[in-house]
Amino acid sequence: MLNLILFGPPGAGKGTQAEFLIQNFGLIHLSTGDILRHEIETKTEQGLAAKAFMDKGELVPDHVVIEMIKNKLAANPDAKGFIFDGFPRTVDQAKALDAMLEQNQTPITGMLSLEVEKQELINRLLFRGKTSGRSDDQDVSIIENRISVYNEKTAPIKEYYEAQDKHVGINGMGTVEEIAARLKAAVGSF
Ligand code: ADP
Repeated sequence: MLNLILFGPPGAGKGTQAEFLIQNFGLIHLSTGDILRHEIETKTEQGLAAKAFMDKGELVPDHVVIEMIKNKLAANPDAKGFIFDGFPRTVDQAKALDAMLEQNQTPITGMLSLEVEKQELINRLLFRGKTSGRSDDQDVSIIENRISVYNEKTAPIKEYYEAQDKHVGINGMGTVEEIAARLKAAVGSF
């Protein structure tokens, strides 16, 4: 079983690279951002509650996303592996994920951390905002808030996985193909 965490700030290219990893390694993609946006589209109570946080660039409460992931793991008992994208985003989410995977006896294999300069992140998100229709991609102050929430609450997860010897830094600057090749090589080294 190959359980990967694709990590990095907003705009680092996690969604784009997840597509490639899914195809190459036959993994199931679990993106909490995609799951939340689907909940909003289908107007569930959970989705409407989450939207207020997402529109400001704040994190949705831990218990909400942890429950979502728990349900997805239970719904895919025969998976060859998972790629976690946008989750965990806090140390408490990371601990909850470890506990869930321990129950299934399928621990995290490694965390691939895409490293991209701040100005490049902002440029990519504003560019994406023109076509994605995502309101959180269209306003520089919301984007900057997402990056500072990332630095304050999400970046510490790096040390959490470093302590388990599972963190791998990947240069996230360059073409989609170049970055994909770096990720593939890193997965090969696990
Ligand atoms: P990006 O990586 O570009 O910020 P995502 O789709 O991963 O895009 O996330 C969009 C928003 O969804 C976040 O700003 C946050 O409000 C919410 N979200 C997604 N995943 C989580 C999570 N694991 N914990 C809390 N909030 C989350």
